[in-house]
Amino acid sequence: MKPVPITPPPADAADRKAIAPVVCYPTDTQPRPDLASYRVLRDGLKLVEAVTVPPRDARSWTVPAGHFFRIVSTEGSQVGDLNLFNAHDLTERLYTGKTRALNGTHVGLGDQLYSSFPSLRPMATITHDTLDWYGFDAFGGAVHDVIGTRCDPYTHALLSHGDQYHNCCHSNLTRALSDATGLSLVEAEPHVHDVLNVFMCTGFSRDTGQYFMKASPVRPGDYLEFFAEIDLLGVLSTCPGGNCSAEHSSDAAACFPLLVEVYEAEARPEGWVPPAINGYNRSHGR
Ligand SMILES: [Zn+2]
Repeated sequence: MKPVPITPPPADAADRKAIAPVVCYPTDTQPRPDLASYRVLRDGLKLVEAVTVPPRDARSWTVPAGHFFRIVSTEGSQVGDLNLFNAHDLTERLYTGKTRALNGTHVGLGDQLYSSFPSLRPMATITHDTLDWYGFDAFGGAVHDVIGTRCDPYTHALLSHGDQYHNCCHSNLTRALSDATGLSLVEAEPHVHDVLNVFMCTGFSRDTGQYFMKASPVRPGDYLEFFAEIDLLGVLSTCPGGNCSAEHSSDAAACFPLLVEVYEAEARPEGWVPPAINGYNRSHGR
């Protein structure tokens, strides 16, 4: 339980709280992708690779810039935890904090996933989402968040007084990244980062601001589709929470595989150029 406030409110407390918010990074001030130029390519896509991610495990794949990839629900309602890297440089990776600041707490059609400093550039553009009908529900929940971190054995040990569980998304991603790169588990683990929670339905409770989850609306046949802006290494974990209706970090939930499909496009989006690394000169004032 959080303690109740102990500071008496000032006389103008109501006025201060009544100030309307402003959006930090309005999307109409950002360079937004021309979604139509991407989507016109979807009619001529050729499947070049398919990777099945078994339940409570993770797998990796690579996608050349200009290709598309999909994360597909095939057998049951299942959440996936996605890590993305520059295929040639593991230090450039998905930066969910800035992606969230630029797009919002949940991402969808037309949003771009940004990479870490100093590159800070679009890594991928979301070109299709069969769950885009969901929007925000009455609880403030929505799908595909960039607010959660990933379930992990450290938090689990903290909350369970030391229980050892080895199939949290963090461990699944660590093993799969190790397999993909040849790095040891110890070397691979620091590269695992906060995820895009694919298909997960989450929000913050209005009264306490606590992160909540609820059963994912995803059903077999649903998918989330991305265009690779740069050469990508993707790693996806099938969360041991299954559809994340109840808990993580155990083998109690019903879990299902997820399918990753990589597609080659016949052409590139009209006017598209691979995004350059960020324009800041990194002198930091010296
Ligand atoms: Zn998880």
